[in-house]
Amino acid sequence: MRRRSSMRGNRLTLASNQVDRGSPPVARRVVDYWCAADHRSSPAFATDIDVPEEWPCRVCGAPAVLQRGAAPAASRQRIFPRTPYEFLMMRRTVEDGERVLAEAIAAMHKGDYPHPGAGRRP
Ligand SMILES: [Zn+2]
Repeated sequence: MRRRSSMRGNRLTLASNQVDRGSPPVARRVVDYWCAADHRSSPAFATDIDVPEEWPCRVCGAPAVLQRGAAPAASRQRIFPRTPYEFLMMRRTVEDGERVLAEAIAAMHKGDYPHPGAGRRP
C-alpha cells in the first residue's frame, strides 16, 4: 500500500484551523460615505479602529467623504485623451494646412507625384 502524504492538494483549500470557531464576530459599525455624484457607500468597520476620512465610491470609484455634499468634484478622465484630428490640430494651424495642401496640389500638377492609379493594372 502506498504511503499517503500528509499534505494533499484538497487539504490546501480547506479553512485554516486557526480560525476561532464559535467565538463572537468582531463588533462592527456601518459608516456612510458620499461621493461628489451623491452615491452612498456603506462599508463596515470594526468599532475599535478610526474610520478613514475617504473611501472609494462603490458606484463610480471617486473619492467619497463622510459629510454628504463635501466630496471634491472628481476630475473626469478621458479614456481617449486626444483624437487624431486633435493631434493634427496641435501640430498645424488651418493656415499651415492650406499652405501644405497648395504645395501638394502644385507638386501634383507639376508631375512630381505619380497619379494614384498609375502603375496599377486592371
Ligand atoms: Zn460615486
